[in-house]
Amino acid sequence: MPGAYIDANVCKGCGLCVTACPKKIIQIDEKTINIKGYAPAHVVDQEACVACGACYAMCPDCAITVER
Ligand code: SF4
Ligand code: SF4
Repeated sequence: MPGAYIDANVCKGCGLCVTACPKKIIQIDEKTINIKGYAPAHVVDQEACVACGACYAMCPDCAITVER
């Protein structure tokens, strides 16, 4: 399915993808703590994703996969 998929346990919660997304559909999930102890980013409106790849390009930890 087209969209952006974040591996929550790879994410370090830096927020760069949140800033990068032109659709503003990525947020830090403050209610979740991953195995590294960070609050990970998650996509809040997958249907609004335009698969531009900006989040993928920005992520320093390669936690994001974008499917077109
Ligand atoms: S692929 Fe583009 S629109 Fe989709 S979540 Fe990433 S930055 Fe946002
Ligand atoms: S850029 Fe990568 S490591 Fe940083 S919050 Fe987004 S998914 Fe997590």
